[in-house]
Amino acid sequence: MFKKLIDENPTVKKIADCKEIFWINPNYSGKDSWNRGEDFLVDIDEAEARLLRFAPFIERVFPEVKDGIIESPLTEIPWKVISENMSGRLFLKQDSHLPISGSVKARGGIYEVLKLAETLAVEAGLLTFEDNYAKLADPEMREFFSKYKVAVGSTGNLGLSIGIISATIGFEVTVHMSADARQWKKDMLRSKGVTVVEYPDDYEAAVAQGRREAEADPACHFVDDENSLDLFAGYSVAGKRLKAQLEKEGITIDENHRLYVYLPCGVGGAPGGVTYGIKEYFGDNAYCFFAEPTHAPCMTLGLATGLFNKIAVGDIGIDGRTEADGLAVGRPSALVAKAMQSRLCGCFTVEDARLYPYLAALKDAADIFIEPSACAAFEGIRYIEEGVLNGSSIPEPDENSIHILWATGGNMVPEEEKKAYYQKGR
Ligand SMILES: *Cc1c(COP(=O)(O)O)cnc(C)c1O
Repeated sequence: MFKKLIDENPTVKKIADCKEIFWINPNYSGKDSWNRGEDFLVDIDEAEARLLRFAPFIERVFPEVKDGIIESPLTEIPWKVISENMSGRLFLKQDSHLPISGSVKARGGIYEVLKLAETLAVEAGLLTFEDNYAKLADPEMREFFSKYKVAVGSTGNLGLSIGIISATIGFEVTVHMSADARQWKKDMLRSKGVTVVEYPDDYEAAVAQGRREAEADPACHFVDDENSLDLFAGYSVAGKRLKAQLEKEGITIDENHRLYVYLPCGVGGAPGGVTYGIKEYFGDNAYCFFAEPTHAPCMTLGLATGLFNKIAVGDIGIDGRTEADGLAVGRPSALVAKAMQSRLCGCFTVEDARLYPYLAALKDAADIFIEPSACAAFEGIRYIEEGVLNGSSIPEPDENSIHILWATGGNMVPEEEKKAYYQKGR
């Protein structure tokens, strides 16, 4: 079946050959034509209100988090990092520097665990929405939470985020990790009292095992990277926060000042949730694109074939191996693919070797370090500069456009590894 698909569909053929491609989504449509009935919706305001309720708790247990709000800087960076031929303004959304876990996963992952803690405490009569949530860090509350378990399967950064926040709250937490996860992430989690189980197979195997074990235990909550609406809601809050940040910069997005956003994609939850939020707040004036490695282009494949999670990169003979460990995913989330079908402008793929020069250029020009996965976003600008949008349904950016590279991770990478990545880029 997939052999036929490769033979008949030139896009799939290029993906199967691990060629770099820029795919424009033919189903992209304006907000008015979204099918809101069929489409799932998350309530961004509700999620934001929950994060605000937790702010006193976050401030108590992580004093370094200003006002208890987990948010990242939006930083203007020089065009020379990518190309001198582009105009408009270029920003880096530094989720690489989100507090607590140093990646975009500090949005969705932490949100889901906080919501779980709130639900359990409210059901037990130990908490009301009007309370000061700082009390959740009291010893008797930790004692209460220690009766419950959290489990997650992860390539690394989701595990870090879920592990750290769960252990801080007092949950008994297990992170199921694939072999390609970095050693320092496993070490850091273990140092915080998290149980780390390692799998020789890929990410999907780690997730499947984690899910099986959790399902057998009613006291265990499994954080489902592929299907969780809570994760998605946590990510989507970024759209609302971004709007406020741009306004602070004096920037209003409208039809003459369009927003172009480039987001690295693994299973899709993080970039999908962020895109969902961005489209809610900026509507048709925002154009979002996902970046994937040529060896793990699961969302590009799922959307371009319309098969969503019914096709994995292995089905067309791709190995899924990439140095962009945060993006090493073979099968996309069905939930995210469905939501992106009408909201996402397109996807592009990047060879691993292109990531490191961007990493070094950013370090040199702006003294900011981000991990290789996060650098995948940069390639979107290069494609657009080449004219891939010319003649498409998506307008090309101009001198009034705002571009945002969503830097998804990096700050927690140990110094030694940072140096090695930088050297490689030079
Ligand atoms: C997880 C992650 C992504 C992608 O998020 P998904 O939800 O898997 O699509 C991108 N970059 C980094 C650094 C990540 O950790």
